[in-house]
Amino acid sequence: FFLMNKLISNISKIGWRFDNTYARLPEIMLSRIAPLPVKDPKLVIFNHNLSKELGLDFSVVEDNLLPSIFAGSLLPQESECIAQAYAGHQFGYFTMLGDGRAIIIGEHLTKNNKRVDIQFKGSGKTPYSRNADGRAALGPMLREYIISEAMHGLGISTTRSLAVVTTGENVIRETPLPGAILTRVAASHIRVGTFQYVTMQDDIKTLKTLFNYTINRHYPELKDSNNQALSLLKIVMEKQIKLVTDWMRVGFIHGVMNTDNMTVSGETIDYGPCAFMDNYNPETVFSSIDQHGRYAYFNQPGITKWNLARFAETLLPLINNDKDKAIDIASKTINSFGTLYKKCWLEMMRKKLGLLGEDSKDENLIIDLLSWMHQNKADYTNTFCFLMNENIQENKIYNNQGFISWKQQWQERLKLHNNSPEKSLKLMCSVNPMVIARNHKVEEVLKEANNGNLNPFNDFLKVLEKPYEKQTKTNNYQFPAQSSEKKYQTFCGT
Ligand code: AMP
Ligand code: MG
Repeated sequence: FFLMNKLISNISKIGWRFDNTYARLPEIMLSRIAPLPVKDPKLVIFNHNLSKELGLDFSVVEDNLLPSIFAGSLLPQESECIAQAYAGHQFGYFTMLGDGRAIIIGEHLTKNNKRVDIQFKGSGKTPYSRNADGRAALGPMLREYIISEAMHGLGISTTRSLAVVTTGENVIRETPLPGAILTRVAASHIRVGTFQYVTMQDDIKTLKTLFNYTINRHYPELKDSNNQALSLLKIVMEKQIKLVTDWMRVGFIHGVMNTDNMTVSGETIDYGPCAFMDNYNPETVFSSIDQHGRYAYFNQPGITKWNLARFAETLLPLINNDKDKAIDIASKTINSFGTLYKKCWLEMMRKKLGLLGEDSKDENLIIDLLSWMHQNKADYTNTFCFLMNENIQENKIYNNQGFISWKQQWQERLKLHNNSPEKSLKLMCSVNPMVIARNHKVEEVLKEANNGNLNPFNDFLKVLEKPYEKQTKTNNYQFPAQSSEKKYQTFCGT
């Protein structure tokens, strides 16, 4: 008994400051359910940097308690466990969903009063599990850990990963695999699909409650706006445009841009079938189930717009009492997507090429380079590194006449607007990563990690923390896959 008390009092010293506002929302929005106990949890990886950022200190508890903490068996006293209800368009088809294998244990306030959800993913069945097991396997959870942290390193808005534990139980996939739980940290888990779910209840009161909650939590600056719902639509659109432009910048393919995987906070969420593109091909798809390329690289902005239109539909009753008027207003906003995205994308691509100011021929210059890369199967990341004079490998491909004449035009353009080699290089270095989480490298370190050797995983993670800087080991991760390794496939629901 004494030990138990001591243990709990020490847990209280970790620094959790819970304030569980989502759990106060109408019952229809959630289910109260705790993580299911697991047989024999073991800590696989823990994110010291993130823990510090959150104002937490796990060194106050004995190391042998950490696995139980991150398996959800030893919960902080103030925790209130919930699974959230939501819906979503999956590959265009509407479905009722919810956290089928994830449980939010509470909202933590950091020292700066930033609010984050602490969620265990893979922690057992919930009322939303449908026919699935509520569990997750080690490989995919480590994959989410490394790719989400890589995205953070790239400066791209994302959910984070605090820890991974194994459960000591197998999960049944095609073969039995070690079960695992990931601790995910997110600004919130409110999705476009959360609004869709509430809209399906046909209950304007609950919709207003969720709406006000979202404004309070994410965009309190909109409270004074005279059409808050329209303002919310516009700001979420802005965030999502910024996000998808960032994905395009680094060649990230999300892979499952269903409306339940799009947050209103603008964070990247759901690292299931995602992957980075190596050779530039706008049609690149990695996901095994994306037969028609709905979520292909070049389709991502269009899908963002489509998802935002679904979001707009949920907000109509709050935009205007007159439905036709509301549709008219919302449509105008959604229709401005193309212009706004193009502006954002052009700005981003100019930076990638180190161009200052604007020139009417910029767009052609950019498209010519992308077409050249596509035709010549040039590596997207390494081509920009080459332009920054980073010679990663023998680059015969860049002796190609097409490339040389493009480069001449680029160099002429570089001279405009008071630019200098120093200025353009600095700009390029700030947006062109030296290293990305290349698929074959991710697979390599995951294979080792699955066999109990975390060293390669940790080495890679360290380089991915600072992808714009050259580090001693950076070069180990810059080579694209051999063509024999090329047929890369990713999966959902792993
Ligand atoms: P996704 O397409 O990966 O975003 O997943 C869609 C839905 O499936 C979400 O509601 C998940 O919670 C649920 N889901 C995925 N895998 C599992 C699983 N192993 N057990 C229960 N639910 C799951
Ligand atoms: Mg999802």
